[in-house]
Amino acid sequence: MIVYKSPAEIEKMRRAGRIVAGTIRAVLRAVAPGRTTKDLDRVAESYIREQGATPSFLGYGNPPFPASICTSLNDEIVHGIPSPKRVLREGDLLSLDFGAIWEGYHADAAVTVFVGDPPSDEAEKLVRVTREALEAGIAQIRPGGRLSDISHAIEQTALGAGFQVVREYVGHGIGRRLHEDPQIPNYGPPGRGPELRPGLVIAVEPMVNAGGWETVLRADQWTVATADGSLSAHFEHTIAVTEDGHEVLTVLD
Ligand code: MG
Repeated sequence: MIVYKSPAEIEKMRRAGRIVAGTIRAVLRAVAPGRTTKDLDRVAESYIREQGATPSFLGYGNPPFPASICTSLNDEIVHGIPSPKRVLREGDLLSLDFGAIWEGYHADAAVTVFVGDPPSDEAEKLVRVTREALEAGIAQIRPGGRLSDISHAIEQTALGAGFQVVREYVGHGIGRRLHEDPQIPNYGPPGRGPELRPGLVIAVEPMVNAGGWETVLRADQWTVATADGSLSAHFEHTIAVTEDGHEVLTVLD
């Protein structure tokens, strides 16, 4: 069941979104060779708590997620666990996923960056295309559109560049819960699923692999990686459907 949000609820989510965006900026300033993924987690948790908010991911799920952000390196797609043993190296592809709760409402966003320079033109293209896939999906969000218009635009962008989209993990509604209805696959034909209407708030999150779309779950029960060891990138925004289009609640600038 989709829970549509009132303007007052969206205002709380806008505030959560600004805190998430500020967290991203703070963590990106700390990304450098020699730092560990746990260092980045500490930066994020401190920033979120200084704003009076709560990390969305800490303690989430079963087994409880043990950190405030997800840090997924290279062939890891999503849900990587920050660790003092994971040292960032020049050329690493680093996907970072963030969530914060403000007055009971979540916002969720992700970015992928390189530690230093990209290791190859292919890796640079993967990250650029994944960002473009998110932008293409967001461009479909307007009242009267259909949910799978977003899915289709994302898939077309990725496939058109010779990449594959992850199928087992999807975008989602968001609000009082981190994951609400509807699910938003990053693939499929347009014109299907619920009609988009004001008050719907969704987290759109393309996960794009340089190789095949298949995934594996690592022994820590959280980290999702590509089955073939290829690189993967991930971008995400939390977006509200408005009367005349959409509003990105986790906008970075
Ligand atoms: Mg999400």
